[in-house]
Amino acid sequence: MTSRSGEKSKGLGRRQFLKLSGTSTLAAVAAGTIVVGAPGSASAAISGRTNRPADLPAATGPRCVVVGGGASGATIAKYLKRENADFDVVMVEPLAMYMSCFLSNLWFDDLINLRTLQHSYTEAASDAGYTWLQGKLIDLDRDAKRAFTSEGYIDYQYIVLAPGIDYNYASIGVTDPEMVVAMQQSYPAGFKPGSEHLSIKDKLERFEGGVFLTTVPVGNYRCLPAPYERACMIADYFKRNNVSGKVVLLDPGEQPFAPKAPGFLAAFSELYADYIDYHPSTMIQSVDPVAKTVTTEFDTIDFDDAAIYPRIRAAKIIEDLGLSATDNPQFEADIDVYKYFAKGDMTCYVAGDCRPMPFSKSGNTANSEGHYIAKVIAAVEAGNDIEWASPQTICYSMVNGEPEEAIFVKAKYDHDGFGFTDVELDNERSAANGAATHEWGAGLYRDMF
Ligand SMILES: Cc1cc2nc3c(=O)[nH]c(=O)nc-3n(C[C@H](O)[C@H](O)[C@H](O)COP(=O)(O)OP(=O)(O)OC[C@H]3O[C@@H](n4cnc5c(N)ncnc54)[C@H](O)[C@@H]3O)c2cc1C
Repeated sequence: MTSRSGEKSKGLGRRQFLKLSGTSTLAAVAAGTIVVGAPGSASAAISGRTNRPADLPAATGPRCVVVGGGASGATIAKYLKRENADFDVVMVEPLAMYMSCFLSNLWFDDLINLRTLQHSYTEAASDAGYTWLQGKLIDLDRDAKRAFTSEGYIDYQYIVLAPGIDYNYASIGVTDPEMVVAMQQSYPAGFKPGSEHLSIKDKLERFEGGVFLTTVPVGNYRCLPAPYERACMIADYFKRNNVSGKVVLLDPGEQPFAPKAPGFLAAFSELYADYIDYHPSTMIQSVDPVAKTVTTEFDTIDFDDAAIYPRIRAAKIIEDLGLSATDNPQFEADIDVYKYFAKGDMTCYVAGDCRPMPFSKSGNTANSEGHYIAKVIAAVEAGNDIEWASPQTICYSMVNGEPEEAIFVKAKYDHDGFGFTDVELDNERSAANGAATHEWGAGLYRDMF
């Protein structure tokens, strides 16, 4: 790895490595950015209760607090107001702006600019008529219907939790807290919004050649086709910029995400035979971020730089609040799978990528589901019931940059068992799908904000 000043960073000791990366383990633990021990082993006791109310105007109607401003939370906040203008909606989100994960692979290959991914919460809130509180949910008293945030408490009639995901580094054999921090800061997955994507883009721009390692996790991870799309976009970037690099893609599955496997495999062999080294059926056993090696059940692989995607889990706040299903390996929420409320509590809903249903964890799924959840809450407030509506997954994957060509899948889910229905699939990469990728993204941003 070469730093911006051009110095090689190989041969660093662990302590020096962490010092250079700017965070001590203790500070990271205190900030709650790392998991100590296996996830779920000892959830932190939450101690965020305060007697100070958040600095908000008095509620003008039934107050709905929406936690998280991603594809799920932003959609729900906007459409709650559309469903019932009397709702007083407060969206609690700590990030200063929205930066989307979806379409980020295109930015890595310079097919869009960074501004396309960024959106303003101030503008979204004022256009849709809700309030954005820049802060973080820390604790919840569901009996008193009081949400404790970093900015003070908020009393509510309804609360929706849409805090997204966290990573489980133990799933790839990394449990030492120092090494977890090293992984997060030096080889970020790029599957949570913001800094991780900026870091991967910088890595690609300064990459001098060799092996760029990327990985596919086990489980129902965020955006099933995205690791394969990312391999294509990075390979295309290397190809078009004459970088003598190879993307090594380690996949525990036997082939890429099933519906799109033919489209991805065709791109790997027809466009990137010299740039992608695809290893299916390969389970990671451990990673050493200092030695820059990954050990699989067959081999030890050296890498020059990497973006390593471990198994995901529901954001830790879901488990900390006692809302995770006890038998769920990804600590997803224990909710009514048709109406999204925490079992026995129709004032508290969980949405987006921390839901337990086997839907594709995608932006379009979260957005279409968000429309439905807004209707469910409006119906509960009005004393009505509504019929279940399936979320819709629409997923374009760009596989070529010049010309821009993509493959495509669209599906809904059946009521019993949540298998795919109404599937539309196009594994022939085409310029028409490439253009439609941009239109789809623009439409989703318009609908969220
Ligand atoms: C590289 C990549 C490519 C992708 N490609 C596609 C694609 O082509 N199509 C597609 O449909 N989807 C795609 N996705 C998936 C999509 O981005 C996600 O599934 C979607 O954004 C999930 O939305 P969410 O609202 O559940 O989570 P997020 O968007 O992660 O939002 C969660 C929000 O909650 C906030 N939060 C967390 N904890 C708290 C707290 N305690 N208090 C307050 N706020 C909190 C976070 O700051 C965050 O803003 C892709 C994802 C990636 C990473």
